[in-house]
Amino acid sequence: MLFDLLYKFPFLNIVFMKKLTFLLSILTIIMSASCTTQEKADLVIINGKVLTIDSENPSAEAIAVKGENIIAVGTGKSISAYIDEGKTEVIDAGGKLIIPGFNDAHVHFGPLDPDYIELRYTTDPSVITEKVKAQIAKSKPGELIQGGHWEHEMFTDKKWPTKELIDKVSPDNPVLLSRADGHSILVNSYVLERSGITKETPDPFGGEIQRDPATGEPTGILKETAQNLIKTGEAKITRSAEEDSTRTWKGYLLAMKEARELGVTSLQNAGAADFEAYEKLQKEGQLTSRIDIGKPLTGDTTILLKYREIEKRYPKEENWIRFGYLKAFSDGSMGSGTALMFEPFDDNPTTSGLAMWNYDDLEKMVLTADKMGFQIGIHAIGDKANNWVLNIYEKTVELHGKRDSRHRIEHSQTLRQSDIPRFSQLGVIPSMQPTHCISDKRFCEKRIGSERSKGAYAWRSLIDAGSMLAFGTDYQVEPLNPMEGLYAAVTRKDRLGEKGDGWFPEQKLAMEEAIKYYTLGSAYAQFMEDRKGMIKEGYLADIVIVDKDLLTIPKSEIMKTKVDYTIMGGKVVYASGR
Ligand SMILES: [Zn+2]
Repeated sequence: MLFDLLYKFPFLNIVFMKKLTFLLSILTIIMSASCTTQEKADLVIINGKVLTIDSENPSAEAIAVKGENIIAVGTGKSISAYIDEGKTEVIDAGGKLIIPGFNDAHVHFGPLDPDYIELRYTTDPSVITEKVKAQIAKSKPGELIQGGHWEHEMFTDKKWPTKELIDKVSPDNPVLLSRADGHSILVNSYVLERSGITKETPDPFGGEIQRDPATGEPTGILKETAQNLIKTGEAKITRSAEEDSTRTWKGYLLAMKEARELGVTSLQNAGAADFEAYEKLQKEGQLTSRIDIGKPLTGDTTILLKYREIEKRYPKEENWIRFGYLKAFSDGSMGSGTALMFEPFDDNPTTSGLAMWNYDDLEKMVLTADKMGFQIGIHAIGDKANNWVLNIYEKTVELHGKRDSRHRIEHSQTLRQSDIPRFSQLGVIPSMQPTHCISDKRFCEKRIGSERSKGAYAWRSLIDAGSMLAFGTDYQVEPLNPMEGLYAAVTRKDRLGEKGDGWFPEQKLAMEEAIKYYTLGSAYAQFMEDRKGMIKEGYLADIVIVDKDLLTIPKSEIMKTKVDYTIMGGKVVYASGR
């Protein structure tokens, strides 16, 4: 119609075209102006030393975040454009190190006991007196007072604590305070009396009642099997169901607090946990770490179908509470001499450990669950246990074809040299805990000798063979603090910083690598490497700012490093100064 008109009246055509050109040019100016309008961020972090773990863009100074996501990573100048004055929250990192949030690939997470006296990292023993006093003030006479995680080597005087430290403040209550390793305990005189432990009591087999060298009196420290002598004579506390659930809720809040203060923004629970409890935490705005929750491995298809229903409710695409992997045990532990080995133990040649399942039953379960598409994670400590699980995973590929299954071996602790390359060949993830190495190395060599120990915690060999490690802690077996894991990975020395080069130093990692496996590696193990584990545009804004430069400080400073900020899903969930 319009073109008909223009055709009939050429004059009109020229005038119209001129007007149209003019209008179009104005429109173009308006359009281009709106296109260059800078996108604004909700949160900007400036002035940092950003270790991105992104190999294409390894370092940066600043980060822009919008909603849950990182929208830009770059120089201070480029990111300052994202600041909307008065609206964008700006964190000045003051030149400090910024890394992706820690992702603990193996935890046993759950509610803490709100009355437990936490003594980890105590350096001044008088703090113990104060904390026990405060807890007793809230308790009834006769009620059991429990706490622990103290480590006398961290005390300024490095002396074992004694009952005198707590007796004055606890005349009417039994007090039990465990050492960090759980192998010794400090008790008060109230407990010694009720247990009938005196100067005359002989040391039990495999245990020691520590005694004052001058008087011979028990000091209050009971080691190993001497702990079995304890009778607390505690008054039983009865609680209503409501009181119990309040305590559990408080316990969850405490556990969440611990995780965010340590910069752990993702948790992968090894095995089952209460999905609904975490949903409640999320609804109430208290879920400050993402969590994967699994189920025990089974070959029963009815149960597996039920798991599938749960998985639909907590899908892999979700970022907060997700269905994880199916867990089973193939053997025991090195500490208790139950790891399944090819050859007998050096310190006990009558045994080569214990299998938790016979091979065929374990294989059957794995094959059934693999066929239904589940991810599987099996605990394996001994070299034979690891070999078995690798064989079984190999069978899944033979029978069901190669898929991106990312089956895991939890701990992957002692490996035969010939099994090391099989992890990457089969796409099996070694899910490992660096602190186990520095806690267990004391007895590992005694149990299995130095030749077999070469394949223990063999991080470097696995990486060289092409594996992507996933790092974690096995909390609460070990502390949740990632700084201990980083320290262990780069030193392979005990926590006191013993002399020398570390235990099998050729397996040590560089700090950047240790951080990578604690972030991107763990994300890969849960199929999340395209959303988590790097500080990169489009990734979830799970970010940690630490108070020391882990990349340059002396090794002795690593475990003293603290978190300044924890950001999860774009929100500041912990700030040390606030
Ligand atoms: Zn575990």
